[in-house]
Amino acid sequence: MSTQTLEMVASDFLHDSTEEALSELFMAPPATEPHVDARFDKGNDTIVIDGVKFYAKRVDYHRELDERFVQWIMDSRQNFPVYGDPSSADGESLEVWAKSITDEYFGSPYVSGIDTDGYESFMPNGVKGQFFRYEDETYVALWQQCTGYRARTRPMVFHVSCHDAGYLLDDDKATVFCTSCDDVVFDIESGGQRVKRIDQSGEEIDDGTEVSFDDLVANPVCPKCGTDLRVEAAQF
Ligand SMILES: [Zn+2]
Repeated sequence: MSTQTLEMVASDFLHDSTEEALSELFMAPPATEPHVDARFDKGNDTIVIDGVKFYAKRVDYHRELDERFVQWIMDSRQNFPVYGDPSSADGESLEVWAKSITDEYFGSPYVSGIDTDGYESFMPNGVKGQFFRYEDETYVALWQQCTGYRARTRPMVFHVSCHDAGYLLDDDKATVFCTSCDDVVFDIESGGQRVKRIDQSGEEIDDGTEVSFDDLVANPVCPKCGTDLRVEAAQF
């Protein structure tokens, strides 16, 4: 089957909901525990955040701007490697388009970007994101770079719905806790490079014992009562 670009319209490439757009981005398997947004990956000694749940709390799919981006691709990106096909759109296309519609220049139209390969992140590898401002609102385009078994996606445009766009960068943080003991809570930052035990108000408990991230994820049981520990992504 050949790609009949002429017969396609922008709406063929759009999504109907935030869940649908994020599910394509993360090829989400059905969740076994719907409320859990992170889990221990004991085989790889790490924590993995569920990208769909993480971003669903922070962004809303913005069909209108996404359509403008898709239409712009079809109209303006006729050359290699896109050939007017929105599903082949890449980060560079997004950058050119976002700069063309950004209405104010704040030194740079971009606040910052997301690159889960580029720092210690609990998100699956290959997730890319670019912030931009449009009519005094902050948006983020998210896409999946091809990484191994994960299919690449085109950049999709979302409105940042949480109070601070910085919350989208909290994918290197997690909280580990015992469901039985109120006082066993670990705050994890920088992808596990910093682990501290905290009390219920978030204050660090300095009891002189070092807790290593590797030990915590290799054997995630409560040091006090032996119950399995739980993990959740950063809250705000
Ligand atoms: Zn416990």
